[in-house]
Amino acid sequence: MSRSGPTPYGILAKKRAGESLSEAEIRAVTTGAADGSWSDAQLGAFLMAAVLQGLDAGETRALTLAMLESGEQWDLASEVPLVGDKHSTGGVGDKVSLLLAPLLAACGLPVVMLTGRGLGHTAGTADKLDVIPGLDQALDRRRSLELLESCRIAVGIATDQVAPADRKLYSLRDVTATVDHLPLITGSILSKKLACGSAAMVFDIKTGNGAILPERERGRELGRLLIETSAALGRKAGALITDMSQPLGRWVGHAAELQEIYECLEGGGPEDLLEVTYALCLELANLLGQPLKRSALEEALASGAAREAWVNWGVAQSGDRAWLEAPDLSLAPEEVVLTASEGGVLASVDTCSLGLLLSEAGGGRRHPGDTVDHGVALKVEARLGDEIEAGGELARLYLRHRDEALTARFGACFEIDGTGAIPPGTAPPLVYERLEAGADAGLSSG
Ligand code: URA
Repeated sequence: MSRSGPTPYGILAKKRAGESLSEAEIRAVTTGAADGSWSDAQLGAFLMAAVLQGLDAGETRALTLAMLESGEQWDLASEVPLVGDKHSTGGVGDKVSLLLAPLLAACGLPVVMLTGRGLGHTAGTADKLDVIPGLDQALDRRRSLELLESCRIAVGIATDQVAPADRKLYSLRDVTATVDHLPLITGSILSKKLACGSAAMVFDIKTGNGAILPERERGRELGRLLIETSAALGRKAGALITDMSQPLGRWVGHAAELQEIYECLEGGGPEDLLEVTYALCLELANLLGQPLKRSALEEALASGAAREAWVNWGVAQSGDRAWLEAPDLSLAPEEVVLTASEGGVLASVDTCSLGLLLSEAGGGRRHPGDTVDHGVALKVEARLGDEIEAGGELARLYLRHRDEALTARFGACFEIDGTGAIPPGTAPPLVYERLEAGADAGLSSG
């Protein structure tokens, strides 16, 4: 290292050779990313060297901390001590955040969540919330505190001042084939979560063919890395590994998912969505040291308290009260019904392809500035393990325009076993496992 500090060339050569970087060297990278003193070529080279040589637990912690400290730190828990946060690795039909926040708020627990836009085959919570007329999603520290104090919920998009080093590195990961790397993912997610400064965080790690990390072992590894890195930086975190081998709930699509949230808030809604949401609520409440009973969550829905918390939150974030109380949600007009060509048991669903298909139909973005069609939707009628009769409805697409090629791909997303090899009722668990700090948390360099 030179006397004036680590040079980009020296740091890159060291990582390329497979050596561990010191905290000061990692901080030099994130400072260079945030202030523009490292070129895109140097930052891209760092990312590629990190992926090829790995980052150990100490480097992952140092990277997370340095990215966190590159920007604002809100430390919301210093003013709202029981504020919790939840993050999902993303999936198709994953609308859990929108139900978890009003449920916990109705039970007295404040929730803050920074949301994102859609990515690949998964939709973003921020895009779903765009459906609510007038809703202001811009959050900074002062606004978040006001919201937490007035209605116990703050959900939205953080100012650019949060983790600017991550913003720069993330944009380069996208174009340097370095997105799919567990320590880089951990640093990226956690730098923003820690900047928000909740008292505890729960991670919903999706597994299965609709998840970003389909293999359970990779999901487990990410969960452990998130939890252990959080713990090393003094923050409580836990994780559940939950199923994403079929869409969560019955509806996918921005307006349709909000409609399903209303169904739940009005005492209905699909079992799987409710189960996963309850499990994450209970986990977060435990992490906050405020254990809840499942019956308290059920009561919050049955009594209308969670619905009231939702409306109060929406209004506090400038959403239209009349709309929030009686939402006007319409779906795209072209319905494509998919029926079973033979009888049998639903054996598999190509969840990732369903997500991509909806995205291509206008429900997602090809380029960052594209507008999203909120009415494009999918309704899933058949669940894994269901017995289906020939001609029975499997799913239904709601498109803006007829599209034969898309319709053909839709048909290929559902596989029925007509041989009897798969017994009826064969379905994956909704929650596979729970990860907590200190429990068999071997860290991997990814
Ligand atoms: N979300 C993030 O914010 N960063 C990642 O790297 C992956 C998901």
